[in-house]
Amino acid sequence: MPSFPTTVTWEVTYRCNLRCVHCYSESGPPREEIGLNRCQLILEDLGKARVFKIVFGGGEPFSRHDFLDLLEYAHTVTPVTLVICTNGYYITGESAKRLKHIGARVQVSVDGGNEQTHDAFRGKGSFEQAIRATSILRSTGIPVSWSTTLWSRAAKEIEEVAAMAQKLGVFRCTFRQLFPVGRAAQGYSQLLLEPSAWDEAKSKLKDCQTSYGSSPTIEFETIMDQVMGIQKHPNPSPAGVQHCVITPEGYLLPCQYLRGQEFIIGNLMTDSFIDVWKTSSVLARFRNPSAAWTCKDCMSNCSS
Ligand code: SF4
Repeated sequence: MPSFPTTVTWEVTYRCNLRCVHCYSESGPPREEIGLNRCQLILEDLGKARVFKIVFGGGEPFSRHDFLDLLEYAHTVTPVTLVICTNGYYITGESAKRLKHIGARVQVSVDGGNEQTHDAFRGKGSFEQAIRATSILRSTGIPVSWSTTLWSRAAKEIEEVAAMAQKLGVFRCTFRQLFPVGRAAQGYSQLLLEPSAWDEAKSKLKDCQTSYGSSPTIEFETIMDQVMGIQKHPNPSPAGVQHCVITPEGYLLPCQYLRGQEFIIGNLMTDSFIDVWKTSSVLARFRNPSAAWTCKDCMSNCSS
């Protein structure tokens, strides 16, 4: 099966100023991460591999003092699309200007339709910072999208999230299901939507799609429907075929949710991205049409 690394998700740090209850990378205190010099070599490699889009996340990527330098280097070595996922805390007028200069797009996490719901999930003061960041970025002319995790309270506030997003000029709201990985695995049952709440949420999301059209566009993931057999599984999964993940310590994985040792394809502290992408036996398994990986396999084997 032909494979092209169109999108690479790069978790540049485990550091984070927040301790969100659902964080799949269990971010917070500093842990091992790749230094700027090695990051620059990796970016050159990604450019040579003609990666189309790099999505930077973490942890909170702006917790790295050299994160903007890293982005600016990416902009000089490759015409790749740069997308940054952030909680918004460290966005300032100055950083927004630098992001605008390199043509970056930013995704801000907003996990509820009001301060009480969002802060219950992400911590006190975090809603105000997410809204503040969105306003600064928009006033600088940067395209901003929002990512909302559909936990039990946020699922009741879908219309409020969409209305706020429209008011602030957000171009897209992506609503994601909660995934039982990392810290989310610990409190999963209380946060998870009951099947009837999920049906209700889908109905609200469809209504919002119709009423908001493209301002903002409303997207939602349907992994749970795939697991429950309501929707067909993507087969093969894009994991390892068009997409892969770099962890803060340099491991290359096929998907951010497949974090076991058996899924480590290589380590970019020492290996070249292109060599690993072309020769990995783990990836060969993902690309074999008769044994291709699906989201269902992922969920049912998830041990986190
Ligand atoms: S979910 Fe994001 S903002 Fe929250 S602790 Fe994890 S990395 Fe930080």
